[in-house]
Amino acid sequence: MATIQGATGEWEMVIGLEVHAQVTSEAKLFSGAATAFGAEPNTQVSLVDAAMPGMLPVINEQAVAQAVRTGLGLKAKINLTSVFDRKNYFYPDLPQGYQISQFTQPIVGKGVVTLDMPGGERREIGITRLHLEQDAGKSLHDQHPTQTYVDLNRSGIALMEIVSDPDIRSPEEAGVYLRKLRAILRYLGTCDGNMDEGSMRADVNVSMRRPGEDYGTRCEIKNVNSVRFVQQAIEYEAQRQVDILEDGGTIVQETRLFDSNKGTTRTMRTKEDSHDYRYFPDPDLLPLTLTQDYVDEIAKSLPELPDEKKARFVSEFSLPEDDAGVLVAERERAEYFEAVAQGRNAKLAANWVVRDLVGALNKAGRGISETPVSAEALGGLLDLLSDDTISGRIAKDVFEEMFATGKVAAEIVEEKGLKQVTDTGAIESVIDEVLDENTGKVAEYKDGKEKLFGFFVGQVMKKSGGKANPKIVNEILRGKLGD
Ligand code: ADP
Ligand code: MG
Repeated sequence: MATIQGATGEWEMVIGLEVHAQVTSEAKLFSGAATAFGAEPNTQVSLVDAAMPGMLPVINEQAVAQAVRTGLGLKAKINLTSVFDRKNYFYPDLPQGYQISQFTQPIVGKGVVTLDMPGGERREIGITRLHLEQDAGKSLHDQHPTQTYVDLNRSGIALMEIVSDPDIRSPEEAGVYLRKLRAILRYLGTCDGNMDEGSMRADVNVSMRRPGEDYGTRCEIKNVNSVRFVQQAIEYEAQRQVDILEDGGTIVQETRLFDSNKGTTRTMRTKEDSHDYRYFPDPDLLPLTLTQDYVDEIAKSLPELPDEKKARFVSEFSLPEDDAGVLVAERERAEYFEAVAQGRNAKLAANWVVRDLVGALNKAGRGISETPVSAEALGGLLDLLSDDTISGRIAKDVFEEMFATGKVAAEIVEEKGLKQVTDTGAIESVIDEVLDENTGKVAEYKDGKEKLFGFFVGQVMKKSGGKANPKIVNEILRGKLGD
């Protein structure tokens, strides 16, 4: 929980997020026009999307299935009857003059998202609802010195608005929530979650209160398009509100904009109430009715989701919670891990995936789908490690080389002659050399300076180019030093 210490005492943050997630679907919510990102302006616009008179919307069944799927993934109630309403407002890029949305009867009701916070705390964030709605078009202000152009490619694209309860208490929790929600959507395949392409955007509601008291008045920051910006917006907004409240002022409920260059928020408009939109059921669309069988069919096709996968990794492979959490953060990453772990020591596999592979990928700015080391190749490296062909130290170098060149481990070990030396005769002669070169230290050791043992091991390993089998080195050294 994030509190802010003001001159008059502590303030607690209360945060609720409304996430707009673009439904993964080839067609729009009420027309057959295409939805591909980055198309030439106004090339994906049907007469319905352009709101030509007399055009009638037809619901896209795929979008409905995706919303139900998402609802099930959020452990939410699926409403077998839901209603599409017109939400009336004027935007230059909203040709209908209204948005078709859902208001009192959304397709999905109450659900929950569980957060695993760093440090081990588990938090449950309530989902208020999920409803389907159309996206608007886009005004282009940078195409002409004095005129604004409108691109209707986005007009009519299916969005899921996923509304959280005001259960979030810090910018950190907001970040974990958004990442978790994004992971769930990606596992489900219902939204690609690419915030930089506008596939996921958040309206951020923030208010402050004295710990334990009722909720205060909130401000809503519109359309924030990265996790980091959401966190910055909350931080700025919380402090702004505390400053006002500490001065004895009151918060005016309003809609604000985030300025990502300055990290600040500013007034956009005073908050309209829902009655201002003159919601009413869209007469062009029948209420949407689903059967329980239909919902059950979709439920059967759900993949194992991050929480369940994590719990399974912990119980099946005895992995630490944190490692399991890193592995399940992305579906492909979890699958990669399971492929490596198959028939091998799972803890070892997890260690290598979490620390070495994910570390190297992050450093290179690549995703798991672009890994130069396949699961099979990493498995091959672990096999060489497990059967003592190479030492742990050498394995790290081999991995680095695999990552850089895409070669498999056996090839690198062969080429560079990195096989571990297990020949006791060869190791013994290296040990003799080291002891001869360090007679002073040997005497100190025998006088009781036992921590010098590590020094001898280090010298032997160095002389052998890291290839001597450490277990054998230890045994022979102990023998020679008379332990
Ligand atoms: P709308 O913004 O459309 O009027 P709601 O009133 O249902 O819709 O609230 C939208 C969002 O605001 C939800 O995510 C909810 O959790 C959040 N919210 C509601 N009250 C508060 C509050 N006092 N402080 C912070 N967030 C709040
Ligand atoms: Mg809102």
